[in-house]
Amino acid sequence: MDTKLSPAVLSELATIVGAGGLQTDPEKICDYGHDEFSLRDIARLPEAVLKPATTAEVSAILKLASREGIPVTPRGGATGLCGGCVPAPGGIVLSLERMNRVVEIDAANQMAVVEAGVTLLEFYKAVEDKGFAFPPHPGDESAMIGGLIATNAGGSRAVKYGVIRNYVRGLEVVLPRGDVVALGGKIVKNSSGYNLLQLMIGSEGTLGVITRATIQLLPGIKHMRSLVIPYETLEAAIDTVPVLLQKNLSPLAVEFVDRDVIRITEALLRKRWPCSSGTTDLLVILDAATEAELDRLSEEVAAVCLEKGAIDVFSADTPAKQNEVLQIRSKIYEAIKSETVEILDISLPRAEIPAHVKRVWEIGREFGLWLPTFGHAADGNVHTHIMKARPEGAAMIPVPESEWRPKFEAVRAAIYEDGRRRGGVVSGEHGIGLVKRDYLARSTDPVLIGLMRGLKAVFDPDGILNPGKIF
Ligand SMILES: Cc1cc2nc3c(=O)[nH]c(=O)nc-3n(C[C@H](O)[C@H](O)[C@H](O)COP(=O)(O)OP(=O)(O)OC[C@H]3O[C@@H](n4cnc5c(N)ncnc54)[C@H](O)[C@@H]3O)c2cc1C
Repeated sequence: MDTKLSPAVLSELATIVGAGGLQTDPEKICDYGHDEFSLRDIARLPEAVLKPATTAEVSAILKLASREGIPVTPRGGATGLCGGCVPAPGGIVLSLERMNRVVEIDAANQMAVVEAGVTLLEFYKAVEDKGFAFPPHPGDESAMIGGLIATNAGGSRAVKYGVIRNYVRGLEVVLPRGDVVALGGKIVKNSSGYNLLQLMIGSEGTLGVITRATIQLLPGIKHMRSLVIPYETLEAAIDTVPVLLQKNLSPLAVEFVDRDVIRITEALLRKRWPCSSGTTDLLVILDAATEAELDRLSEEVAAVCLEKGAIDVFSADTPAKQNEVLQIRSKIYEAIKSETVEILDISLPRAEIPAHVKRVWEIGREFGLWLPTFGHAADGNVHTHIMKARPEGAAMIPVPESEWRPKFEAVRAAIYEDGRRRGGVVSGEHGIGLVKRDYLARSTDPVLIGLMRGLKAVFDPDGILNPGKIF
């Protein structure tokens, strides 16, 4: 393929980022061709990886790239699940990993100012060291602030504390032709013209490169407790959720989990999930200012669940038990990752979950594929996993590629179609990237797609920034 990265352009780029900031050796940059989406069919080796250390360097790179028509794909922790940071043909990966400073924790305004390459893990530590909390908890702590904002990440605590969008107050963004703009700031309210800050959040690196963010913090979370509640049926479990929410018990998270994957994760971690009766568990996580308040909330949740047909209520009321339950929940992905082809991320009206999950099970039977499905019961975000194995006790027995591959597309199409019919959307938190763009087009009003394309053309007239994503 023709490359626009002539020796002269490469030397200009090297001057911008300095010696350590440019890599072109295929062996060193092969990891920059993919994210956590399992199929390497979509991976693509970049022509070069650039690791700027300052906003001025990002700006100079983009100026040069737009002048030369070189595609640029921003990259954070590459924990994305839909190929969002896979580079375009002939393109550069712009990795924010060296812009990793926590600039300020401003106690008076209760806000943090951080560079885009700070990981979630580092961010939690910096914030908690100062006695604050950042409640959203997307599952992979090696994700970076820029990537989390660019995908508007969510996580299980969204029901009480919202998603990343609800915390971003200000952004420094480099536009595709190199202009550096400040959107919002250390302000809570803002009705000053179109909200370009919110437009940038969730734009998946297609409108601008996020270099710095101002993020709202909350007072530290004091006490947490998990309740695991088994039910005979999925419907009974899901029917409980609106009642819990109406009672104003404000759970931090309400998840529904799948027993097959729990068994496999128990075996991997050599830990025990507290229940084995019934078919579906709700995992309810509570937080409160005092242990006494937690006791009160736990009792009320237990009473509601038992009234709605729960078999039992198991309370993880010691740190050790709490740890065991949360570790099993958070390691499910690791336990089944080797046999997962794709994790879907459909977001539905909450009450549609049982009928949708039943339809997924039906599709699994029709096609003879294992489709474990679980997720965020209180906000309607359902993660169906399309697997290339079948469960047998605590083991996964691989299915030959010749068996799952021909069915894969039809299975996804059938599941997305059911989500659409029920008023759902293709992605609740992972974004569209490369992998879901056909389904976004099929399930979205063409007028809206036209508006989105129009916005893309205004921000990125040369079409260099993460081309081929979303649309
Ligand atoms: C085990 C596991 C659990 C997960 N759990 C959750 C979960 O609970 N909730 C959830 O929402 N997601 C979850 N994810 C998905 C993933 O962690 C999120 O999508 C995360 O926000 C991606 O951040 P990242 O830094 O890894 O971004 P990347 O994967 O590097 O990039 C994602 C997108 O953002 C763009 N981008 C990255 N940095 C910038 C920047 N500075 N400026 C502009 N654009 C940029 C990229 O071009 C790409 O389009 C999970 C993933 C894994 C592997």
